[in-house]
Amino acid sequence: EMRIVGKEEQLGDSWQFSLRPRYLKEYIGQTDAKNNLKVYIQAAKERQEALDHVLLYGPPGLGKTTLAGIIANEMGVNFRITSGPAIERPGDLAALLTNLQAHDVLFIDEIHRLSRSVEEVLYSAMEDYSLDIIVGKGPSARSVRIDLPPFTLVGATTKAGALSGPLRDRFGIISHLEYYKQEELEFIVKRAADVLNTTITETGASEIARRSRGTPRIANRLLKRVRDVAQVLGNGVITDVIADDALERLDIDQIGLDRIDRRVLLAIIDKFQGGPVGIDTIAASISEERDTIEDVYEPYLMQLGFLVRTSRGRMATQLAYDHLGIVNPNASVN
Ligand code: ADP
Repeated sequence: EMRIVGKEEQLGDSWQFSLRPRYLKEYIGQTDAKNNLKVYIQAAKERQEALDHVLLYGPPGLGKTTLAGIIANEMGVNFRITSGPAIERPGDLAALLTNLQAHDVLFIDEIHRLSRSVEEVLYSAMEDYSLDIIVGKGPSARSVRIDLPPFTLVGATTKAGALSGPLRDRFGIISHLEYYKQEELEFIVKRAADVLNTTITETGASEIARRSRGTPRIANRLLKRVRDVAQVLGNGVITDVIADDALERLDIDQIGLDRIDRRVLLAIIDKFQGGPVGIDTIAASISEERDTIEDVYEPYLMQLGFLVRTSRGRMATQLAYDHLGIVNPNASVN
């Protein structure tokens, strides 16, 4: 099954990499986050200090990694990337931190997935730029303090709520990334087409933008598939007609929902009378992972107003019934 919404392209994809904006002024959208960061970065540079630690949160593909890299570039420092699950032991973290130079940016993706023991070591690293490591075992065990260079931790997470209180409190700057607007995505698509040396019409770009779930990574990925269709079945130019044809083949509907979005909504509507129903029950009924639904699918369905979260579970809204062309038996008659 083809997946449009995934993370697998994030690293090691040179094409994606070449599309990454490198400085704030090239970074489209996210105006609030950008304007705030601009001030904080300038202030830190003027004082010749490391930038305060930054937490970025929002759904996958909105540009958290990109923004973290931009912070390093703007500060003029090295950029190191890792992820929560990759740091298995406190020693792994110590190795990363002791190799940093003053003011470097360490990016930890999926920071909510750090293990408890690693997280605890991180506290003093963030707060005092020092590490307290236990060396040895049993009665001879002792705590050793290692001083670290001042550094900036940039953490990314899909859900700020999944972070423990003590960890969240140690970030001085917290930014929420939002879904991109149509015009912003059009701009991103046109720029990407340019990088790919592909001609795209205005309406072609707006068709792809409209069906990209407000997410630059998806816009870029869809563009590549549309370009294939334009090349093989058209004359190479991406028009709205070609884009529509290609997206139809990918089973992406007029507002950008894919098969899994529709399965989530249909499960709530058909199997659970529109809800409320728990997320685990939904996940089990369509054989999808709970995390994927929660991190990727649900936020966009909520943004569209198709799904609401109540204390008793998820419910499909009238808008969802309308979009799927299903009569809502629960709708009030008058
Ligand atoms: P995240 O870390 O939030 O999952 P990424 O930073 O990996 O997202 O972004 C995914 C892709 O989307 C990047 O490769 C980049 O090409 C594109 N992108 C993200 N944000 C922007 C932006 N503001 N302007 C232009 N392109 C962007």
